Amino acid sequence: MGVLARYGHLMAGVRDSTPPITLGEGGTPLIRSRRLESRLGVGELYFKLEGMNPTGSFKDRGMVVAVAKALEDECGAIICASTGNTSASASAFGALCGMESIVVVPRGNIAAGKLAQASMYGARVVAISGSFDDALDIVRSLTEMNQVRVVNSINPDRLEGQKTAAFEIIDDLGDAPDDLFIPVGNAGNITAYWKGFTEYRELGNATRLPRMMGYQAAGAAPFVIGHPVEDPQTVATAIRIGRPASWDSAIAARDESGGLIDSVTDEQILDAYSLLAEMEGIFGEPASAASVAGLAKYALDHPETQDRRVVCIITGNGLKDPDRATAQGLNVDESPADSAAVRKILGWQ
Ligand SMILES: *Cc1c(COP(=O)(O)O)cnc(C)c1O
Repeated sequence: MGVLARYGHLMAGVRDSTPPITLGEGGTPLIRSRRLESRLGVGELYFKLEGMNPTGSFKDRGMVVAVAKALEDECGAIICASTGNTSASASAFGALCGMESIVVVPRGNIAAGKLAQASMYGARVVAISGSFDDALDIVRSLTEMNQVRVVNSINPDRLEGQKTAAFEIIDDLGDAPDDLFIPVGNAGNITAYWKGFTEYRELGNATRLPRMMGYQAAGAAPFVIGHPVEDPQTVATAIRIGRPASWDSAIAARDESGGLIDSVTDEQILDAYSLLAEMEGIFGEPASAASVAGLAKYALDHPETQDRRVVCIITGNGLKDPDRATAQGLNVDESPADSAAVRKILGWQ
């Protein structure tokens, strides 16, 4: 159905004249954990599978709104800085609407699948020798001069779309959960979820609000250390951001909800990345695993988590970053093409 058709009436700025474009974004599954729940010591644990969006990440929820508004306003082109997923999403919706997409990415720090997507959707891809933060500075400066629409999460239409994930969680659970665990990079998503939860409660669809539990990578944790990070480093490229654009609103989400923003190491992220795949059959990308790594860390020190209902946001699909998966060590045995040899490898006598 798409988020504009389903929730457009609850989005600021969306009108009857806004074209209801869609690639089938939103409506993603909320899956109850079968194995990690007891292992981590959580009362009820759910995963929101945002990697099932049409370009494989939650970015599609906000992008469809940003591009619909750009189309309504007769913009011919969209532009964004990206660690990968924003570029994939922008160029897909740009292609859908026949708009030129320009994406500026940090060279060498974008997962292979994401670059392949932007390129297939026909975007102009500019890879700079700099960070995501440099790319966003460049995009901001370019749009002061030209007639293109910025579709990064500094565009408020993005957050209007992204808040629909909170609506869906409440619709599925019948109320808000106790805690929401979510990775934090540029901090648009934690901002959008908080907006969604508070608005939906005001509409009478929930009786409570969750704590917002945000997790950054230790080498890219400006909220945890309290100031921007000059040279952010982490294997979780989607959250490799040193100067988050939605700084104040993320702090507000944290504080108003009684939550926290903490960090997890790359080792903890990669452990959670493997655990999620092996114990739940969910292949998220490394950045997505930060939410699960955060929950594992938190639950260890907080036994009361056993009485709580928790949702972890799995923000993007693991298939986007095959190099990282392969680097974990491919679990493959080679064999001649005969059944006796395969039997032997399997240890069957
Ligand atoms: C964009 C992204 C994030 C971070 O979201 P922010 O809104 O930048 O905090 C996390 N995970 C994935 C897979 C992403 O694409």
